[in-house]
Amino acid sequence: MKKHIVVLAGDGIGPEITDAAVEAMQKVASLYGHEFEFEHCLMGACAIRETGEPLPAETVKKCLASDSVLLGAVGAKVDDPFINSLPGNKRPEAGLLGIRKAMGLYSNVRPARLFPALAGASPLRKDIADRGMDLVIVRELIGGIYFGKRGGGVDPDMGEYAWDTEQYSVKEVTRIAKIAFEMARGRRKKVTSIDKENVLDSSRLWRKTVHEVAKDYPDVELVDMLVDNAAQQLVKDPSQFDVIVTSNIFGDILSDEAAMITGSIGMLSSSSLGDTKCGLYEPIHGSAPDIAGMDIANPIATVLAGAMMLRDSFGLNEEAKAIERAVDKVLDKGYRTADIMSAGMQQVKGSEMRRLIVESIEKA
Ligand code: NAD
Repeated sequence: MKKHIVVLAGDGIGPEITDAAVEAMQKVASLYGHEFEFEHCLMGACAIRETGEPLPAETVKKCLASDSVLLGAVGAKVDDPFINSLPGNKRPEAGLLGIRKAMGLYSNVRPARLFPALAGASPLRKDIADRGMDLVIVRELIGGIYFGKRGGGVDPDMGEYAWDTEQYSVKEVTRIAKIAFEMARGRRKKVTSIDKENVLDSSRLWRKTVHEVAKDYPDVELVDMLVDNAAQQLVKDPSQFDVIVTSNIFGDILSDEAAMITGSIGMLSSSSLGDTKCGLYEPIHGSAPDIAGMDIANPIATVLAGAMMLRDSFGLNEEAKAIERAVDKVLDKGYRTADIMSAGMQQVKGSEMRRLIVESIEKA
């Protein structure tokens, strides 16, 4: 298989971690007889410094023409005087929102897996963590309250006020629900749809629409859950979840909760997809400017983002598994970067972790 992949390394630790993912994917390509061509483009603070724009038109053009995009992270140091002087729409993070919109990426998929070797790093009680967690959150990404009408003002009685609106259409819910059901078919065949149906009209429409979509997937179990209960259930027994589908704001909050349960944000990746197989794959963490260039960044989340791309965009399940197995193997042997270090384990630099993972990638 021949694929053209755009790499947006971005800022901070971005170049270190994307290099690791590229090397892992190249190893897979050589083992399985594929040809992956990687092209680096600018986005974020690095793009601003070179072109004045967080998302140059050339980058958008190249991403749209690619088979998929691998992203490191964007964002400068909080006290960067030049970046801080820029208006919101010219800042590094505007590049990320811009590329999601330009590529029509309406779904965000975030797997959260409790790596058995790291179970001790989870804040959950041991007996709960031992039951395991292997779930995927499918979050609607370009609708809901983050994109609804908003406003505010000053009222003689109320004083200063502000408002935002949550709005969803059947079309928006249908397309995200389909992604969740399709994903469940390749997993444990269970979808939990999370809403606030007892209070919100938009949630009642959400629930009704998800049930309509479910009719096309009789082999997949559908469970409805209110968001407040879901927040509890995630810490009480996360092993009950397979695929979660939810709105933009609920997904934003619950995916951070799920990430925390796994014990390290340096381990988790996410993908954003639209109507085509061309997606955006990235770690869930940011550019970590505090540790950039120190060779201590954990590359695992980005390496696993590469594995997600192989599976979800290119249908290369065996190849994705080869990368995931390599990560498990290195962790099982006790190697840890600083962020996931615990007593009795062997601490390694970021580059050493990358070498160990790439070396461990084998054809099944
Ligand atoms: P962050 O995720 O970059 O860092 C939070 C903490 O986790 C830091 O202490 C950092 O050192 C650590 N960390 C993060 N990734 C790590 C890794 N792979 N290995 C080891 N440790 C790691 O979040 P932040 O500090 O709030 O944000 C820094 C910058 O990143 C900001 O400019 C922010 O806007 C940006 N950001 C970008 C994205 C993105 O590009 N998708 C997401 C979140 C934040």
